[in-house]
Amino acid sequence: MKVTKAAGVELSGAPSEEQLEKINRLTKTKVAEEDVYVFSVRLCDDQVDRDDERFSEACIRELAALFVGKTGIMDHAWSAEKQVARIFDTEVLTQNGVTMLKGWAYMLRGAETDGLIRQIEGGIKKEVSIGCAVRRKMCSICGEEYGACGHVKGETYGTERCAAILCEAADAYEFSFVAVPAQKEAGVLKKQTGGEMALDEVAMKRLQKDAELGKAYREDLTLRARRAAMLLELGLDDALWQRVLRAMPAEDLRAVAMGLERKTAELFAPAPQMTVEKETAREQNSAFLI
Ligand SMILES: [Zn+2]
Repeated sequence: MKVTKAAGVELSGAPSEEQLEKINRLTKTKVAEEDVYVFSVRLCDDQVDRDDERFSEACIRELAALFVGKTGIMDHAWSAEKQVARIFDTEVLTQNGVTMLKGWAYMLRGAETDGLIRQIEGGIKKEVSIGCAVRRKMCSICGEEYGACGHVKGETYGTERCAAILCEAADAYEFSFVAVPAQKEAGVLKKQTGGEMALDEVAMKRLQKDAELGKAYREDLTLRARRAAMLLELGLDDALWQRVLRAMPAEDLRAVAMGLERKTAELFAPAPQMTVEKETAREQNSAFLI
């Protein structure tokens, strides 16, 4: 089962000689101290999190090996995921009774990462999330397979609050810098100037692209709904029909266009039906070929 957890960036700076050596084991071409930026990420620990889950110590140790070589990306949700960092070393630490997994990651310095590095240095970019897979979850109350015993995580039994203990690491995936900063940090972001613009511009371009695609898709759906209405001889005034369609939320518009097209397909013989389908297919494709 796949698990995604919040984690955090901690220390950062230039690599030590030993770190540089470890980095160079992973890079295709040898990098120098000034080429890379190094930071540490608290990947996970054995404390109960907000999902009422925690990693077992054994699982943390297994993950330590699995995370080496894994990449850091800008955000899980972005379609063109960009690898910006890579974990070159991990360490299991116990501090004040807490066992944690620390990962050391490097980033190549350059125009693409400059903004992110400044954000990390400014303490703005420190939220990351990690993805991994575990083979089982154990109930903290009775030690049985979680879900099979009837105890529910977050509920209290006697004096003990039930948690699911994540056991047996199967794999570690990427870690991801969270694109949207937490509310309290958003304020800080606004006050800062310069460095972090690179990131914001990328996000903005993506939004614009999404908006363009959305607009093209709407136009395509409107055209299809208008054509279907004509074919079905609904007797609607086209200008009125267009206004109605324009006012519809995208999902409704889609449902109307699809519904009318289904009706057209039912009513017309195979020949015209195929024409309609071919044309819509072509238009659908063109809408996404921007
Ligand atoms: Zn149980």
